[in-house]
Amino acid sequence: MKSGQKDQNQAQKRILALTDHDLLAMLKAPAHEYTPFALDVAREELARRGGRETLEARISEQTVQQEAAAEKARLAISKGLCPRCEKSDIRRHSGCATPLVLAIAWIGFSVALPLLMPHPGAVGIAFLAFVYGTCGVLVLITATSALFGRHKCRACGHKWR
Ligand SMILES: [Zn+2]
Repeated sequence: MKSGQKDQNQAQKRILALTDHDLLAMLKAPAHEYTPFALDVAREELARRGGRETLEARISEQTVQQEAAAEKARLAISKGLCPRCEKSDIRRHSGCATPLVLAIAWIGFSVALPLLMPHPGAVGIAFLAFVYGTCGVLVLITATSALFGRHKCRACGHKWR
């Protein structure tokens, strides 16, 4: 097989695998962006899928369906339901309240500690390091949880923010 032939086969495979939307976009693009061969393949594929109007109708129908699904999911979430199966058996993301409360308590304690221990010995310094270390870890947990925390549906296992 010549390399030109191989390139054409690869281009053909790519074009046949395009979504309706991307196929239309390719045919709407300036003609010089594609080889005549690629455009021929794209036109044949467009005809095979039912022509431009059929594809445009199908795409707008899909868009409407996607928007309806997104709206339904938003509504479910606002009602406290799983956006996928609409059951209410949800493990809520706590909003990281527990580590936050602990972190604030530890920070308060660690601020007060040097006042209680003006001349800490080796044990005192180790204890201070432990308190500050714990503070750091709790703040880190809080931040991570705030960034990546998810609600989870107990019924279907779906996770969302
Ligand atoms: Zn669910």
